[in-house]
Amino acid sequence: MHQTTTLQPLIVPRPEHTVSRSNISSNALKVLYRLKQAGHQAYLVGGGVRDLLLGHEPKDFDIATDATPEEVRSVFRNCRLIGRRFRLAHVFFGPEIIEVATFRGGSLSDPDEEARRVENGMILRDNVYGTIAEDALRRDFTVNALYYNIEDFSLVDYAGGLADIEAGRLRLIGDDAEARYREDPVRMLRAVRFACKLGFMIDPACEEPLPRLAPLLGEVPPARLFEEILKLFHSGYALHAFEKLRHYGLFAHLFPGTEIALSREEHAFPITFVGRGLDNTDQRILDGKPVAPAFLFAVLMWEPARLRYAELLEQGQSWSEAIASASHEVASRQQQTVAIPKRFGLPMREIWSLQPRLERRQGKRPLSLLTHPRFRAAYDFLLLRAEAGEVDTEIAEWWTRFQAVDAGERLRMTGGTKKKRPRRRKRKPAAGEADAGSTGDDAPHAEGGPQPAAGGGDG
Ligand code: ATP
Ligand code: MG
Repeated sequence: MHQTTTLQPLIVPRPEHTVSRSNISSNALKVLYRLKQAGHQAYLVGGGVRDLLLGHEPKDFDIATDATPEEVRSVFRNCRLIGRRFRLAHVFFGPEIIEVATFRGGSLSDPDEEARRVENGMILRDNVYGTIAEDALRRDFTVNALYYNIEDFSLVDYAGGLADIEAGRLRLIGDDAEARYREDPVRMLRAVRFACKLGFMIDPACEEPLPRLAPLLGEVPPARLFEEILKLFHSGYALHAFEKLRHYGLFAHLFPGTEIALSREEHAFPITFVGRGLDNTDQRILDGKPVAPAFLFAVLMWEPARLRYAELLEQGQSWSEAIASASHEVASRQQQTVAIPKRFGLPMREIWSLQPRLERRQGKRPLSLLTHPRFRAAYDFLLLRAEAGEVDTEIAEWWTRFQAVDAGERLRMTGGTKKKRPRRRKRKPAAGEADAGSTGDDAPHAEGGPQPAAGGGDG
């Protein structure tokens, strides 16, 4: 039993803390007040409270209550119950969803088969309701277990989260970090995510088990890992997250193929490529530009795709066959770890498949490529490869120019001319034009395709 549930919380009255209603979404406030009017307890909890205390703008506002999901539904018309693992109520306000969770409770060693399932220490279903004290101690990190009480606007701290916020320390609740990770291995990824997001140090006791327990990620449903990876890499600190995930040996259990490729060529450009790609993603988010999961995953898995492509070329496949098979193989293998939905997986493979096409610039092909729905992403991808030293920058510059110039100039750039010339006369390649136009599209070993690491690598 959790003896700690009898602990008295630290209660900080409104005048002594900085969480203000003016910074809480009006819809979240509506939900809090309505629950209170209906006679229930209602608290803002989790990232909302944590981020307000740190002076950040919260991503969303989560609410905890003693009302059961059914009771919550009876209070709100615009409400739907969701989830199996955790049953929750979603209250809808146009595009904004306020998540309302009933306090979790009970002991892990006392599993009520229907409501909670635990296998090998991992919680598979968790629908035993409890008190706020129990709820607090079942959360992941102390800084995520702070409650803002709508009754008197006080802060309620059962786990020492306020002190950890002060200290800039990320600490799992309780004194058995390993057990907390075993209950839910995704907490390892959350540790990395919050350390990056908040700029906090991970408490040594919570840091120590990470490399040892990293293989537990293999037990997490691939669809859940996909969601976590998007949160890790699409929040503005992707490069930092990548470095930390590799540091703790977690990355290898998310992207095994990439990890093998990277460790083979640690000192060559692949690290530069992935690093630049992630840095680029961070920069776009900072600039308020959209980011695409297909592009992110194309960056994260290009190394194994590229190496496999080179291998298949060596074996004598045509470049178009080779890139198609390499893309397919790498993407399907990855699916066993992280489930990338088709709507992202297909465009990801297209970005890859277009790479060798972008390197063949003669004839009508470049013009038709311009209208390809994935051209822009593939071109951005090519720029990254050029920056990382994987393809000649001249090719990237050629495409930059090709998009900027008029039709006549495009014709000239692709080896055509405005006026018809006698067919017999062979045109000399213009200065700076790398690949002379005679390479057939399907010629095996056609030069200009992505090549294994230039220098240093053994691929
Ligand atoms: P953000 O929304 O900024 O990503 P958050 O802390 O609000 O961060 P959510 O995933 O929205 O994270 O979860 C809300 C709260 O639910 C967390 O603050 C935490 O208290 C609890 N929680 C979420 N995931 C877990 C988990 N895997 N184990 C235990 N508690 C969790
Ligand atoms: Mg949240």
